This record gives sequence, C-alpha cells and structure tokens, in this order.
Amino acid sequence: MDNKFPGKDISDSDLKHKFPLASSLNKKKVIKIKNGLSFGEDQIPLIAGPNTLENKDMIFKCCDLMEKNNLKFLRAGIYKPLTFPYRSEKYFELGDKGLRIIEEIKKNFDLIIVSEIMESEKISTMIDLIDVFQIGARNMQNFPLITNVAKTLKPIILKRHFGSSIRDLLCAAEYALIEKNEKVILCERGVSVPHTHRSSSRFLFDIEAIPAVQENSCLPIIADPSHACFWHKWVEALTLASVAAGADGLMIEFHPDPRNAAVDPLQPITFEEFEILVKKSRELASLFQKKII
Ligand code: PEP
Ligand code: MN
Repeated sequence: MDNKFPGKDISDSDLKHKFPLASSLNKKKVIKIKNGLSFGEDQIPLIAGPNTLENKDMIFKCCDLMEKNNLKFLRAGIYKPLTFPYRSEKYFELGDKGLRIIEEIKKNFDLIIVSEIMESEKISTMIDLIDVFQIGARNMQNFPLITNVAKTLKPIILKRHFGSSIRDLLCAAEYALIEKNEKVILCERGVSVPHTHRSSSRFLFDIEAIPAVQENSCLPIIADPSHACFWHKWVEALTLASVAAGADGLMIEFHPDPRNAAVDPLQPITFEEFEILVKKSRELASLFQKKII
C-alpha cells in the first residue's frame, strides 16, 4: 500500500478509495445551516444546552440563556442512549412527549434544535422539528441509521465512537455523503483508554483529533468537552483548548441546577459558568479572526 506517512493509519489509498467524498482531497466544506449560520468558515457555532430535555420550565430557562448570550444552537436530548436500561425516579425520558415541548420552543424562540436520533423509525416524527440530527457515539457505525438519516438531507452531527479511529469515523461519514447529503459535521467527544476507566476521567479528550480530521478530511470537526471529561470543572479549560486547536464548533452542556440534573449531574456547568465560558471563548476566537455564534 502506498502510504505517504508510514506509521499513520490513513493511507493515500484510503483518501482516494475508502472515503473519497470525506477525504481532504476535496475542497473544505462549508455547511450552511440557515440565516447565514454555518460550520467550516470563520464562525464557531457553540451548540449548548442540557443533556436531556427534562421539562418545559427547565428548557425554557435554557433557551432564555442562549438568547441572552446571542447563541443559536440548542442541544436537548429526547431519546437517550443511556448506559443502563433502568430509570431512576428522577429520570423520566420524555421521548415522543419531548417533541411537543420542542414545538413550543420553536414557537417562542429563534433557535436551531440539535437532538439525537437513535432509530430510523423516529425520522418521520422528528423531521419537522429537529434542525440537526445528532448520531451519537454509540451509533457511529450503525450504517443503516446513518444511511436513512442522510437521505433526509438534513444536517448531521456524527460523533466519533470512543473506541474508533479517525479512519473509522471518516469511513462512517462516507455512508452519509454517498447519499448525496453533504451536510455532515464530525464531533470529537473523547476516547476510552485503559486509565480512563475510573471516576476521575471517564474518557480522554483527544484534542489531536481536531487537526487530524482537518488534515485528512474536507468535513468540519467540532469538539464536545463535556462528554469527554464528564466533569464540570474541566469543561472551560477543554473548551478553550478546542478553540485554540482550531475546532469548527463546540458542544457544551449546561443546566439550571446541575447537581440535580436527571442525567450525568457531574457533567453540566452552571448558567454563570457558561456565561464566563462564552465570554472567554469569544475573546480567544477573536485572536484567530473567528466568531463564536
Ligand atoms: C449526548 O450528546 O447526549 C451523548 C449521548 O453523547 P455521546 O454520544 O458522545 O456519548
Ligand atoms: Mn450524555
């Protein structure tokens, strides 16, 4: 095999034949969402919100915070790939009921909704309400799901599985691109390595993935420090590191009452911490002539 960089796992032949559409041999893609908002240019979309849409009151508070900070991309999970099948008393997965709350968000706020889809059967009910479909780390190689979601031609955020290589990620993205859906945004959210199997760091944030994807692919790559470190105190540092590393976007979790969040209460930052993070990220981004939106 002809490999320009022996020792690296992506060869010239991969760029040409395994993922020709996702490869860096193409012009860098700018992924336009709407109203002049895009990924892959001089803007850094900051997708933020709670892990889970718990109820109308909490999500409306989150929407207010987004608007106050001039941010447009709200994340809110309705269907969650939780590690355990059991639900605590506190956790009430809204599922289809969550879509009714999304309808109300759309009536009251001018926000772009990012939400995870776990099964193709949900496409028809989600399609009119969800602006950007997230395919989670656990489904990164669920190729029938990627194919079906891609066929909607809606933008997709494809998260890298915590055990997958960059090569695997780009090959998975190719499944969407081959359906003529050019709106694929990749997301680094941390990887598993032996020493991360402890409470102090669930995953290792792979900052290297940002320049690595940019070197090998034409697709934008965003960073999700919240899921990587799983620990609210480190989110700001990792966010700034992501901006400095050239991330094409960010995904951050916040919550009105983080320690009482229904899911992953150690992960979200407070509203106050979020506002500081936005301010610092904006200052840092301006050094690179980029704008956090
Ligand atoms: C999420 O963003 O809510 C999520 C479950 O992320 P990941 O797929 O990266 O674990
Ligand atoms: Mn999560």
